Amino acid sequence: MRTISVLGATGSVGEQTLDLIRRNAADWKVEVLTANSNVEKLAAAAREFGASVAVVADDRHLAALREALAGSGIEAAAGRRALCEAAGRPVDMTVAAIVGCAGLGPVMAAVEQGGTIALANKEALVSAGEVLTAAVTKHGATLLPTDSEHNAIFQCLQGGSIEDVRSITLTASGGPLRTVEDLSAVTPEQAIAHPNWDMGAKISVDSATMFNKGLELIEAHHLFPVGLDKIRIVVHPQSVIHSMVEYRDGSTLAQLGPSDMRVPIASCLAWPKRMDTPMAPLDLPAIGEMTFFHPDEERFPATRLAREAAEAGGAAPAVLNAANEIAVAAFLDRKIAFSRIAILVESVLDQGELPAAPRTLEEVLRVDEEARARATRILEPA
Ligand code: NDP
Repeated sequence: MRTISVLGATGSVGEQTLDLIRRNAADWKVEVLTANSNVEKLAAAAREFGASVAVVADDRHLAALREALAGSGIEAAAGRRALCEAAGRPVDMTVAAIVGCAGLGPVMAAVEQGGTIALANKEALVSAGEVLTAAVTKHGATLLPTDSEHNAIFQCLQGGSIEDVRSITLTASGGPLRTVEDLSAVTPEQAIAHPNWDMGAKISVDSATMFNKGLELIEAHHLFPVGLDKIRIVVHPQSVIHSMVEYRDGSTLAQLGPSDMRVPIASCLAWPKRMDTPMAPLDLPAIGEMTFFHPDEERFPATRLAREAAEAGGAAPAVLNAANEIAVAAFLDRKIAFSRIAILVESVLDQGELPAAPRTLEEVLRVDEEARARATRILEPA
């Protein structure tokens, strides 16, 4: 039996992780489950899985969590410090599925205990690329990419060497708006309605703007150091091929599968072995055809902005990520038009000099905070 903590247990990735644990209950002992504020779902999961501790990041919900867990023997905690402390408890596997840069502190705490981290929380790696990868090396931790594209690349690299890679291709579904003409009139409901994947609101909007692919480009750059110029993006609306690795002998390896996050999550949970999932066998004749396009960076500038931020390095990726988080929240609150998300991110990146390259977790968090303040000032001028 292995011990596991699920950070962001009430979200889309968190729930799908718990679904796999439920199906393989004899293999796992759940230690820590966390949420931001969804006490009801968190307490229900903590009781069902017999967690040792449940944490809400928003400490206004501590009393409600204590009440929901009364008599269960499960420890209740709240606040950002408690979240990091819980994430730092030694376990065999941590699934990092908090959304946004809010997950960075807990991911770092898990890295510092030297364990194995299944990383879905891409914003943490985008914001703190060098800092986080250096900490992984220093503490002997293992990062298993859980994002479906990066997990696909990771799988295609098994038995191969990064020195032999000629290129990496990240596939993108293109999102629900690829063929929608007027992007200024798009509603949050339309943006969230992803054609292939069932995900949380923020990543669904990121998929619609293509910022998701932009963030993934930066993520891939840190996970697979082949050089940015060797990482390509191809739109593949059917989302059957999750990404590809081309080797110098001309062989291209691809990972295929259903658009269900339980596949890459299972690959991480069982790594380096395999485990059963409830997936139906891949039926290529039923899929019929697979198509591929270049991304349209005129209509969806996010991948260009992300590539430029990755090339600039230093604080630029953290600034891009923070500005995007503010822009997406404003769009979901119906404060800005869909088409303004990328404009806002570009304005924040272009406004004055960027902060110095962050070298510690605290410096990354300061850059993040400053970029959020910049974005908010542009949105709501005094
Ligand atoms: P969801 O929005 O569905 O869930 C987010 C989780 O994080 C919830 O448990 C939420 O708690 C918690 N959370 C939110 N804000 C905070 C905060 N400030 N502090 C602590 N916890 C917080 O997100 P997803 O599951 O869709 O995505 C999670 C991560 O995985 C993201 O980084 C995303 O990019 C990545 N990812 C997701 C995929 C997917 O299919 N969903 C695919 C690939 C990557 P509460 O419920 O209380 O709000």
